[in-house]
Formats: sequence, structure tokens, C-alpha cells
Amino acid sequence: MATQPHISFEFFAAKTEQGRQKLQLTCEKLNRYNPEFYSVTYGAGGSTRDTTKQLVLDLQQQGYQAAPHLSFGGDSEDTVLGLISEYQQAGISNLVALRGDLPSGIGGTTQLVHANELVALIREKTGDHFDINVAAYPEIHPEAESYSKDIYWLGEKFKAGADRAITQYFYNPDAYFQFVENCQKAGIDKPIVPGIMPLTNFQNLLRFSENCGAEIPRWLQWQLKERKDNQEDLINYGIEIVSNLCETLLAGGAPGLHFYTMNQWQISDKLCQNIGLKSNG
Ligand code: FAD
Repeated sequence: MATQPHISFEFFAAKTEQGRQKLQLTCEKLNRYNPEFYSVTYGAGGSTRDTTKQLVLDLQQQGYQAAPHLSFGGDSEDTVLGLISEYQQAGISNLVALRGDLPSGIGGTTQLVHANELVALIREKTGDHFDINVAAYPEIHPEAESYSKDIYWLGEKFKAGADRAITQYFYNPDAYFQFVENCQKAGIDKPIVPGIMPLTNFQNLLRFSENCGAEIPRWLQWQLKERKDNQEDLINYGIEIVSNLCETLLAGGAPGLHFYTMNQWQISDKLCQNIGLKSNG
């Protein structure tokens, strides 16, 4: 591989001491790939505001490049600006700006602030300080009005000042390539980095994918179903399939990869090894 692509790893803020230790080990192990950043998710509606912030600040203090995910959730503009200011002061230089979702069971009249508005606010208040990442959906966001409208709104996030998009996961590379082509036709010229979800648990993946609108191709569902009671077989098969996906994406021009690690290092590490990413360890 001639040049190292953009690499980033995503975590969620662990709640228990054991979870935090596992996460610490994951950071240490994956750091050999010189990731651009480790991003930390933000619970729906801002439900993990404090734990996300704490983990982000801890990672940053340890010398890792931490990138908090951020959304308005149910918070006021002042609260969100306070958080952004703390991140800026801590030397954080990457953010993932999102609309987010409401926690399940909360609906009604709560109006979520769209990501393009959050991006505009961050740019207005902090200028060029942050590299801003936003979300993109090669298989289209489940609430989108249409395929083109979803691309239009992605374009608005870039116009508001986003630097890069990271995608929802997918297992059909053509969905990504077509999406990128259509984004380019719509005038988007910023990097769109594929989000990579390892295949580790059949039932969880099915449930999660239904909620977020990611498609598990029929052939893959059958293959995973056949292995669902043999974890080792399923993991090995998943690594093979996802390694091939990563190779196809990079060979087809994807600017990098963002791994949804689920706070585990082993599978992301194996995927990085399989696709020949440079490592310093
Ligand atoms: P938006 O870009 O606001 O889009 C949401 C929907 O509204 C789309 O259908 C779009 O077409 C439409 N739209 C966009 N802008 C406008 C506008 N101005 N006016 C009208 N319609 C508009 N969720 C979390 O809760 N926490 C996380 O940490 C988290 N991390 C994520 C990381 C990545 C890489 C990805 C891909 C998703 C992540 N999500 C996370 C999920 C995400 O919050 C949900 O998919 C959410 O439903 C949409 O967020 P968004 O930022 O894409 O929203």
C-alpha cells in the first residue's frame, strides 16, 4: 500500500471499571496503526454527556487524539457551547457532529437540531479550530425524504463547514461507490470515509441494522445464520468477509476506514493486519 489511508477507531464510553480497563488496552493495542483519532460516541439525547466527556479528556491527556461525538440531544445551546469550549481548551482537534436520535420511548414534540446547524454553530464560535466530521449514509438515512434529498443535506453539512464524512456501516461496496459518485455529481468533493462494522454477533447485528437502516445482504445473512451457534467460526468468517470489503473499498478509492470497534481490539487489529496497514508495533 503506497500511502497510509485515513484510519480512525470508534469507542463507546464504558460504564464499569472493567469496561474502562478493556478500553484502555484497546487504545494501546490499536495505536500501532497511528490512527488519526479515537472517536467516542454520545448517547442518544445526550445521555452519556459526562462519561463521554470524561473518556475523551482522559484519552487526550494520555496523548491520544480523541474525537468526541456531539449532538444537541435535549440540551440548550449554552450547554453544547460549554462542552465545545472545554474540548477546545483541552486541545481536542476533531469532533463528530451529529443530529443524533432521541432515547427510545421519548418522542412527542422534541425537535432535534440537524447536524448542518450544529456544524454551522461550531464554525461560528470556534472558527477553524476543529476538524469536523459528519455522518453519511450510503444506503440512505431511514428518515430521508429521498435518495437525492439525503445527499442534498449531506452537501449542506459540508457547506456549513464539515471537513469529512464517516459513513454508516454497510456490507455492499457498490452502495458506497454509487453513493460517492452521486455525491460528487452533486458537487461534494470532501472525503467520505467508510464506517466498518466487524461481524461478531448475528442476532445483535440484525436488530441493530433494522433500526439504523443498514442492509445485511441476503447471502450474508444465510452465511452468518449457519454459523450463529459457533462463535469461533462466525468470527473467522466475519473477518474474512470484512477484510475483503475493506480491501475492495480502498482499492476502489475510499480515502480511509473508520472502525466501529465495540471497544474490542482483536478484530479491528486483525482486519488492519489483513489489509496490510502499516503499523509500528
Ligand atoms: P442529520 O444530518 O441531521 O440527518 C437526519 C435526517 O434528516 C436525514 O434523513 C436527512 O436527510 C435529514 N436532514 C438533514 N438535515 C436536515 C435539515 N436541515 N432539514 C431537514 N432535514 C434534514 N448517534 C448517536 O446518538 N450518538 C453517536 O455518537 C452517533 N455516532 C454516529 C457516528 C456515525 C459515523 C454515524 C454514521 C452515525 C452516528 N449516530 C450516532 C447515528 C446518528 O445520530 C443517527 O443516524 C441520526 O438519526 C442522524 O444523525 P445525523 O447527524 O446524520 O443527522
